Amino acid sequence: ADHMAPITSFFDHDLPFLHENGSLVSYRGDRSTTLSYDGHTGWDYALRPPDPVLAAADGTVVFAGNSDDGCGVAHVVIIDHDNGYRTLYWHMSEVLAQPGPVKRGERIGIVGSSGCATGPHLHFQVQYLGRDVDPYGWCGPKGDDPWARYPGGQVSTWLWSWMPSPCNIPQGATLVDTGDAAFHKRGDGWQELAGGLGGTSLRVTSVVSSSVDVPTGSWQPDLPIAGRYRLLAWVPYIDNGLSDASSVTYTVTFATGSKTVNVDQSVTANTWVELGSYDFTSRGGAVRLEAHDGAAANGTTNVWFDALIWMKEP
Ligand SMILES: [Zn+2]
Repeated sequence: ADHMAPITSFFDHDLPFLHENGSLVSYRGDRSTTLSYDGHTGWDYALRPPDPVLAAADGTVVFAGNSDDGCGVAHVVIIDHDNGYRTLYWHMSEVLAQPGPVKRGERIGIVGSSGCATGPHLHFQVQYLGRDVDPYGWCGPKGDDPWARYPGGQVSTWLWSWMPSPCNIPQGATLVDTGDAAFHKRGDGWQELAGGLGGTSLRVTSVVSSSVDVPTGSWQPDLPIAGRYRLLAWVPYIDNGLSDASSVTYTVTFATGSKTVNVDQSVTANTWVELGSYDFTSRGGAVRLEAHDGAAANGTTNVWFDALIWMKEP
């Protein structure tokens, strides 16, 4: 799609066969039923018409039309990427693509709820050599991916070119996680939860802006050399029954000043958020996040604090 959308269902690594086997494992290795449903073959994103569906990468549209998925007619596009990978886009209300070459980012359809769907969403599915794989790879214990060990299964690889895997931080990047000494917090109400990058993350309930002591987290990297860095913040995907803050402000302090970046955490869970590229001095700079949600006046949303990475630009 052309904007971020909340994930509503993960890929099930314990047999993505679209039928139940009583077990569900996410790419993070956890078994929570709030992450997906048993047998899910792809990822679901909460989108609705007229949101467009965009091609994930260059390739050839090999199918654009109707497919009976057992509940009736689903509108579907399948793209072959000429490298063994295919991407599949289900439940559209309208197919815009034609068979033939397609470019990354091209509009191939409009989100809908055709076929086996209880409401409008995009079902995004990836296949390698004809078998379903998880485009988010495997983040759980090594050698423990049920789908990779299954005779008919396959190893999954992180496929998002614009962001690094949360389990495989690029060499030379500086990571500051909430458990590190380089992360500082003040104020009350902090709660540590399982999930997120490195296994845990912190949350506080958002407070109104006039509050005297707004809980605040601060990431202060120990950058080895001065230079330009791309800054990414991981937003964890944890379901605790509350909504996530849709308007929080990260304040980036860099070599020559500071800048604020507004982030909607409710649509960026399980994703890196781009905070921009800035010049930092060695051992200088910081990122600050206050537990204030500009969109929740009554202050009842989750504000999430997890890892940040500084990636040195060439
Ligand atoms: Zn789905």
